[in-house]
Order: sequence, then structure tokens, then C-alpha cells
Amino acid sequence: MSLTFILGPPGSGKTRYCLDAITRCQSDSGLFYIVPEQFTLQAERLLVERSSGKAVMHAQALSFGRLAYHVFSRTGGAPAKHLNDTGKHMLVRKVLQDCNLEFYARSIQKPGFIENLTQTLTEFSQYELTPSALSLQAERLDYMDVKPKLADLALIYSRYKEEIAGRYLVSGETLDLLADALSTSNYLKDGIFWIDGFKDFTPQEHKVLQQILTQAKEVYITFTMDRLPIRGSLHPMDFFYATKREWQELHNLAENLRIPVKEDIFLAIPHRHEAREDLKRLTLQFPYFKQRPDQVKAENIKLITAADKTAELIQAAKWIRRNVIEEKRWKFSEVAILCGDLTAYDKISRNIFEQYGIPFFADTKMGLMSHPLTELIRAVLDIIIWDWQYEGVFRLLKTGFINMPQEEIDKLENYALARGIKGWRWGVEWLSEEDNRLRLREMLAPLVDGLKGDSKITVDDFAKSLYSWLYSIDAPGTLSQLLVESENQEEARWHKQIWPRIGDIFDKFVEILGEEEMTVQAFAEVLDAGLQSADLGLIPPSLDQVLMGDISRSRFPEIKALWVLGANDGQLPPPIPGSSLLTEDERERLRSPDFKLAPGLSRQMSDSFFTLYVTLCQPSEELILSYSRAGANGKPLRPSSIVARIKKIFPNLNEIDESTESSVEPQYPEIIMPISDEATQLLYGEKFITSASQLEAYVQCPFAHFLQQHLKAKERAIYEVRPADLGVLYHEVMAKATESENWHLLNKSQLEDLAHFHAEAVVSGESDHVLQSSARNKYILERLKSICGVSLWALGEQYRRGNYITTGIETGAGNIAIGENMIVTGRIDRVDTFDDYVKIIDYKSGNTKFSLEEVQAGTQLQLLLYMNALLKKPNAKPGGVFYFNIDDPILRVNENLDAATRENLLLKEFRMSGLVLADEKNISAMDMHLLSRGGDSPVIPVSVTKSGLGKRSSIANLKEFAELASGVEEQVKGIGEQMMAGHITPGHNKDACRYCRYVSVCKV
Ligand code: SF4
Repeated sequence: MSLTFILGPPGSGKTRYCLDAITRCQSDSGLFYIVPEQFTLQAERLLVERSSGKAVMHAQALSFGRLAYHVFSRTGGAPAKHLNDTGKHMLVRKVLQDCNLEFYARSIQKPGFIENLTQTLTEFSQYELTPSALSLQAERLDYMDVKPKLADLALIYSRYKEEIAGRYLVSGETLDLLADALSTSNYLKDGIFWIDGFKDFTPQEHKVLQQILTQAKEVYITFTMDRLPIRGSLHPMDFFYATKREWQELHNLAENLRIPVKEDIFLAIPHRHEAREDLKRLTLQFPYFKQRPDQVKAENIKLITAADKTAELIQAAKWIRRNVIEEKRWKFSEVAILCGDLTAYDKISRNIFEQYGIPFFADTKMGLMSHPLTELIRAVLDIIIWDWQYEGVFRLLKTGFINMPQEEIDKLENYALARGIKGWRWGVEWLSEEDNRLRLREMLAPLVDGLKGDSKITVDDFAKSLYSWLYSIDAPGTLSQLLVESENQEEARWHKQIWPRIGDIFDKFVEILGEEEMTVQAFAEVLDAGLQSADLGLIPPSLDQVLMGDISRSRFPEIKALWVLGANDGQLPPPIPGSSLLTEDERERLRSPDFKLAPGLSRQMSDSFFTLYVTLCQPSEELILSYSRAGANGKPLRPSSIVARIKKIFPNLNEIDESTESSVEPQYPEIIMPISDEATQLLYGEKFITSASQLEAYVQCPFAHFLQQHLKAKERAIYEVRPADLGVLYHEVMAKATESENWHLLNKSQLEDLAHFHAEAVVSGESDHVLQSSARNKYILERLKSICGVSLWALGEQYRRGNYITTGIETGAGNIAIGENMIVTGRIDRVDTFDDYVKIIDYKSGNTKFSLEEVQAGTQLQLLLYMNALLKKPNAKPGGVFYFNIDDPILRVNENLDAATRENLLLKEFRMSGLVLADEKNISAMDMHLLSRGGDSPVIPVSVTKSGLGKRSSIANLKEFAELASGVEEQVKGIGEQMMAGHITPGHNKDACRYCRYVSVCKV
């Protein structure tokens, strides 16, 4: 019995030492090469490659977990089944349904909660805490904020323990049992162990190591460190603290067991970089705070800065192409791309590498949730739970598993949306789409009929029904079809693995909770927890491919060249995922000699830094780090501190700026190019008629105008109230109310009644009765009435304060000829006149402000264009043009104010926005007391001071009105020419795009 440590920096040959020793070993005893779980496949491959088949006969590459099953299979098996992550998640979700929680009651549905809770429970198990220890700790602590949290965790943990007791083993317990089994068997006697690739060990791994040390003939353990450690001289700030502390603990353990510890084997030279002095210096210098500037030229290390992630990937692809395809320096499989977070690069990398003809494998695990089969199962459960709500039904139809042509699905959806069909209405006859409705009902009947969200059923029975329903709609056949149609190997594997994987999850569910009676809703929640935790692991194909992975998960030791993407602040070293429910502060408060927990955040950060260091030391020939200067939102990004650290070691290392190549001119799809002369002729003819509002819409966005006006692209009819529909209703109510004789003479409550009456009349005339269809819509109707009531009162007040009289409501503006080819028409909401003066009012349901800048930009043409038309009458003068906003403003004033003052303040909120002719007679006709009283008018945008009209007034004299009018005509002419030239380029106007209904068409 002996223990030997093999120590050295990265690349010094520790793994090679182990593998050579295994292949040279003449012993007939068992040879065990133990590595971390995620590296077992790779370790097996290395073992085969090194041994040329000889030693493999009695050497095995295993993880601790696999060693356990190896031992159990020979010593009579484990007493209980292993509960994998998916099983744990489902069990935890079920336990939560049974617990009456205080602190976490509202967190259960939050994304990631089940995963974090399961992780926390696993940690408690690993550190051998009991539920009562948690409860005791909760009692012992004075901190009121942690008590309820710990109490909930103790309750959940206790229920979880009850559920698994005697039935299942969770990861830590498997190793406990292994240690027990080894203590009573001689299975490992005289075996030789090489334990490689660990930084430290969990408490359970320690127990197993103790047994291995007592039984094995020889044990070799490798640790990465810079120099030979000295016992008793550990410093927490040491970069290699974790490995040195573990070395010391194992030393102590061996001494306690009276196992001789042989002299450490220290491999000082990073042989991997023997021929690359700069990479060797990086390995030796990187761990130290005070790097010594090195005069060695960094020929094999490069720092690249790029505009963004896409630009980084393009550079990486070019580099691979040059070195692998053109110069044949390496094979694809000798090159790796790593980053802190693969999901940030995964999607774009696929396109870019394909474009550059680079075969590559991304070491990501595909989740199950995005597969259409998973979506199908979740959707059918939602149909039962939410009683045929729109979302569940059409999510189901869109999975492609329901035998119905896409066109029929679209028609069915349009029909259901336009009529707001849900719930019981799926069960009665329809006027149209009846065949499709019946087909869908028939398909779902075997599973959904007679069930509701709160129907109780055993897990076993429901899982069987669900499974046989999947067969009844031939889900396996659809999957085979998807497999055949797959566009690449990855997609094919995705479709191939999903059916057995879903089957495993159902089996696990039935195995754990088969006899349990639960509601369909509870069944769906537990199943969801299982589906969310499961993934489809991808085994790297053995082809010659570039490997892409993330730093914390992937390890590719035999690579020659490495490109590290995203060397940005916050991304490298990789951020620590917050996977526990206990915060750093809480951990510190809870920790005590008999209450141990996993290492805290600072240790995890050191570990992440250590992993990054080992990664940077992996390539034997070339290392490139790149970082982006801006994120996806255009915000600037800083380089990681790693960049500065490397530059400190190599002061002569220059950053290469490769940003220019990603700034590609935006390319519009073909449909957005100008339309042809022939098409323009067909659309507009020799002389075309348009309206002022169409012109404004064209200026906002020519493409949206083209879609709406010429392609007649309409939004899908949905049975709901949209802001645009409300705008039309407001206009109608206002028009009808102000058409009533002497409406302006009515008092406030009479005006409100009048508005309510017309609102009811207008709404009851709507054929779809949508505003009366639900409590929410009825509330909207009440709001509409109230807004119309108060707005009509304000209009009446404004009217009474002047001498203008209404001469036109919803009146046509006539045909306004612009140049020789164009006629502009339109309707004016209201025209008032006084003597020769003309006033135009346009009702708006938003918060529209008149602005000369907007007039000049062409987005507020209507008022001045109409005024031009009206001024064609002899002697007519412009009195003013206005927007009146239909609104129900909230007054934030002292409640004790008297009613008259409140009304005055309210009226001011309705002050119209526009342009007024600066003429005393005109101004008095709009607000008869303004000139004598002074101050701000509550009616028009004019203020009066002692010295005349105030600076805040929005006024123009006759000459200015005339200039504006001719300017607007010129503008309209220019807009018409643009239209005739076929320009339909998207406007990309931020405000217009925000509310644009065509955003999904033009994909701005
Ligand atoms: S999203 Fe913007 S650019 Fe696209 S059509 Fe709408 S307004 Fe025009």
C-alpha cells in the first residue's frame, strides 16, 4: 500500500505519466484510471490510443460514480435505484405540491426555481446535513430574515428525504454506499489506481478514497500546481490553494491510515510547450499577481479586438480556413474554439462556419423544451387545464404532429381569433370551418374528453392515456418524417433521440409516482419539471471537426490551436451561475464546524479562474483571444482583466483590430427595392389621387405605406379591442354629439349624458359586439364613455368662450390639385368660422402636439393642406389650425380646491395645440376674455402679457400662414414624386417602428 502524488503545472505531462504507467504496468491486478465524470469518454479514448490495446484488457477508465456501479454489479448490486436529475426534479416538484410553504410560496412557478432548489437539496445531501440540522440552525440563528427561508427548506428537504428513503439513491449517497460496500469487500484489493484531473474532492469522494487507500496496492493522484508544496504553509491567496489544500488533506488521511506516502513526483517543465517559448512563459507566469514582463516575443499568442461577436466569429473562421484548409498546418480536430458562455455564440457560429466550409461540433446539450413533440404534449395538457383556450389549441396545431394542412390551420385560427372562440364554443356547431373543428375534436377526444384541470387520475393511468394518444395521432411516424427531412446531422440526432428520451421521462414519472392520484394540472407541473431538466446530450462524432465548447464544461487536451472567444469583462473568466437558493451572506452566517456547506462564491470564482488558466495552457502551438468592442445592443464592452494580465507578461504583444470586416451594409430583401416603372404606372396611373393622411403615412415609412395601401396587407382579425378601433369610435361619438342642435348650451352632466348616449348607440351598431363580450371589454366601454363625456364638456366650454360657429363636421376637404399629376383629398373633423376667419380642428385620441418641425418633416401636413383648400374661397382668412386631444386627464391638485377652480384647471388640460392667426379680432373670437384678462388661454395656445402676445404663443401672421401653405404644397409635390418613382424603402423611424403592425414583415 502506498500513495504517490504526481504534481506539476499544466502541460507538464501528468496525464501522459499516468497513461504511460498504465500501459507499462505488468501487474495482473485491476488497473483503474479514475477521472471526473465529464471526461470519462475522453479518458477511455486516450487509454485505447496509448495502450495499443495491450493494457486495456485489465485497465478501466472510470468516474467515481461508474466505479460505484462497477463495484455494485460484482458485490450484489446497490440496494436502491439511482435517481437521476430528471427524476429528482420531478420528485421535488411533487414534494412542493404537498408542502405548505411560507417563504417560497410565490417562487414555485418562477423559471429556474426547481433547478436551484434541487441543486440546494443535493448540496445538503452531499454535505450530509439532515432536515433536523437545518431546523435547528433556523432556530439557533437570530436573523429573522433567514429563519422563514430555512424553515421552508427544512420542510421541503424532510419531505424529499421521506420520498427517496429506501427507494432511491441520489448522487452523494451512491458514493456513501460505495464506501460502505468497499469496507466489507476486498474487491479493490491490490488494485492500482491513477486518479487524474481533479482539483479537489467532495466529502463522499473522500470516504471512497479512504477505502481505496486501505485496499489498493498503489495509488497515484495528480494535482496541478506550480511547485512542490510544503505542508503547513498554505495561503488562501495562493493561486493553487485548492490543489495544495487537497494534497495536504490527503497527506493527513494517509498518515492517519498509516499508509506510506512516497516522495512527490514533480514534473516541473511544461513539455507541451517545449518548442513554444511564449506559451511556456504564459503557463509559468500567468498565476502570479506580479507578472514579470518578459522579453520573449509572443509569436504564438495573439489578442484580437473585433466590432462584435459576429466579427469575432468571422475572424476565427478565417483563421481556421487559412491554417487548416489552405496551409494544412493542422487538422480540424486539432483546433478548438472555447468561450465563457457558448449559448451567446452557438446560433451565429453555425451559419458562419457553414459559410466558410468548416465542419464543427458544438459541445452543447439540446434542451427538450424546444422540440415540437414536447410542445405537443404540453399544449394538449394546457387544452385540458385551460379548457380549450386559444393558445393551447393553436400551439398544438402548429407543432406539425396534427394531421391538418397548414392552410386549413390558418383558416381555423383566423376564424377562431376573429370570433374570440374558446372553451365550450369548441364543442358546438360553427357557421364555417365546421369540418376542421370536428376533425380536431375527434383527434383529441380520446384524451381530453371528460377531463378538466382539476380531474383526479393516477399518474400511471394518465401517462398510459397520453402515450396511447401519441400513438393514435402517429407521433412516431411524424418523427420519422422529420428525421428524413432533417437539414443536418445535429437536427437528425435531435429528432432521433426525442422519442426514447420522452419515454424515459414518462417511465421515471410512473416509477416514482405511478400510484399517486393527482390532478391533470399537478401532473402537468411535475412533468414540466422533468422535461425542463432533461436534455439530449450529443456525443461528438468521430469525424475531423473543429470542437466548440464552453470553458467550464469542455476539455480538449490534445489540441494544437485554441481560439478563446469573448475575452470581455464579465464573460471571462466565466461568470458563476447562481444555482443555490442560499446567498453568499447566508452561507457565511450558517457555516459552523457541524454545519458544512459547499464552497462559497469567492472559492467558486477562484475555481473559475483556475479552470480558465488550465484552458489557456491547453493548446500546444497557438493561442488566440478575441474580444468584442460592443454588445448586441450597441453598448460598448470592455476587455476582460485577462487581456491586461497577458499583456503584462508580454509587453510587446499588440492587439490586432479586425473590426472593420463585420460592418456590412444592411441589405434589404428584394421586395424592398424600388418598384419598377411599369408597376408604378399601374399603381398610380398618369394622375393619382391620394389623401393627406396617406401622404403623412408615406413620409413616416414608405414601406409600411406600400404594404397597407397597395398590397392591402391587413392584420389578422382578432376578437379584441385595439387602440385603432377605439380611435374610430371616439371620432364617431364626437361627430354625432356635436351634430346635435345647441349641444354647446348643455351643462356638464347633460353633455356627459349626450356623450354616453352616442357612445352606446355607436357601440351597439358594431356587428361583432366585442365591447360587450367580456368584463374587461365592458370596462373599456365604460372608460370610452367617460372619456367622451369629459372631452365633450371641454369642447362645449371652448365653444362657449368664443364666437366661432361650427359650419362643418366630418366635412370633405374637396379635391386639392397639387401640380398636374396629383389630387389630394381628405375629411376635416370640424370647421368653425367667424366672419371671414376659418378654424380647423382635428380630433386625436393620442397625445398629439402640433409642431412646425413635424410640418417641415412632412408628418403633419393635414391641417395646413386643408386650410389651403378652404382659403380658396373669396376673402377667407386662416383663423387657426388645431389638434384637440380626446382624453380624460387626471388632475393632481389639492382635493380642497373649489369646483370652479378645478374645472378651470381641467379645461387647461384640454388646451388645443396648433397655430393661431396673430390678429386680435381672431383671438378674441376664440377666447373672448383673453385679451382683457391676460395670462394663458385655457382654449388656444396663446398667452397675453402686459406687452402683448406672450413668447409661449403659437402664432403666425397672414404672410407666414401663406408661406407655410405654399411650403406644404411644395412638400406634397415632392412626396408625390417619390411615390411615383416607386420608392418604398423602410423608414426606420424609431417611433413609427415601435407601433408598426408590419414589423414582422420588414424585420427591422
Ligand atoms: S417596422 Fe418600421 S420600417 Fe418596418 S414597415 Fe414598420 S414603420 Fe416601416
